[in-house]
Amino acid sequence: MLLSSYGEMGGIFAPTRDTLLRAAEIIRNSGLVAFPTETVYGLGANALDAGAVRKIFEAKGRPQDNPLILHVSNIREASLYADMNPSAELLMQHFWPGPLTIVLYSSDIVPLVTRGNLETVALRVPMNQIALDLIHETGLPIAAPSANRSGRPSPTTAEIVRNDLGLAVDMIIDGGASPIGVESTVIDATGEKITILRPGGVTREMLEHIVDVEAGSPANTARSPGTKHKHYSPSIDIRLWKDDNTEIFSEEMGSWCYLGMRQPPEGNAVKVIFRSLDEYAHELFHVLRQLERCGAKRIIADLPEEHGIGEAIRNRLIRAAGG
Ligand code: AMP
Ligand code: MG
Repeated sequence: MLLSSYGEMGGIFAPTRDTLLRAAEIIRNSGLVAFPTETVYGLGANALDAGAVRKIFEAKGRPQDNPLILHVSNIREASLYADMNPSAELLMQHFWPGPLTIVLYSSDIVPLVTRGNLETVALRVPMNQIALDLIHETGLPIAAPSANRSGRPSPTTAEIVRNDLGLAVDMIIDGGASPIGVESTVIDATGEKITILRPGGVTREMLEHIVDVEAGSPANTARSPGTKHKHYSPSIDIRLWKDDNTEIFSEEMGSWCYLGMRQPPEGNAVKVIFRSLDEYAHELFHVLRQLERCGAKRIIADLPEEHGIGEAIRNRLIRAAGG
């Protein structure tokens, strides 16, 4: 077997030089490596190798029409895989490395399976030294969706990756807890104006400083296939606490546990309170996975304000609750 000399499959490795060299070799040999980024953990394979990319879809149970993001080292590398344009380049200069994924028309070199049969491709330079070293050492663009089973909350630690994917991945590199905790912002930069396809680490306000951004967030599933699939869901029911629907806490509706920034009504439930939107984002997926084992019938999540990273938190919670 190709990887037997690397020790146990699905094993967690400290990010040493030796680990990086082995990880790069695994990727060049069509294997799968889970690695840390500043957003969440990614499940990486050679983006130019259709067979390797198919393994990502299999390992995650991911629908074939949900395209993957190419992780590259810099703007010059991005330009090998996409048709560049001035506003895309401006955004790259401002936000890379960082949690901004930019969708552009694809070059033919990128296999169709990687981009979910679309004419576009999504690109990002992550802001994490382990990820950057891995891309550099591999010498290839790394296709990497979040390293969780499709539909589940995204992983923010190496341990969660192992629990979710285990033997389906050849190596997991441990880089500690993901600092941001929610995925990158995905924007479509193929048109006159930028469209936000998925809110994330780079906020609307930050983008609007640099370029014109289309108002609202279109549920445009033809342009962003990922948005139509169930995602981020814990294994028990989840309900959202909006401005005034406090009746969802009534005991007749069943026992609950809670996460959010506001104090919920009195009760003996398990409650996780965050002091800031950043902390809410950082802890969100991890706490959802903990609360699904809290013994209550359902999770109640506080829907935060819509500004800054709050927009990304709201997006994940609304989708976790089934839209
Ligand atoms: P994940 O890496 O699992 O967080 O998901 C990647 C996200 O990027 C999904 O929402 C995809 O739909 C989106 N995406 C990737 N490639 C494209 C593309 N070519 N066009 C539009 N959205 C894309
Ligand atoms: Mg994902």
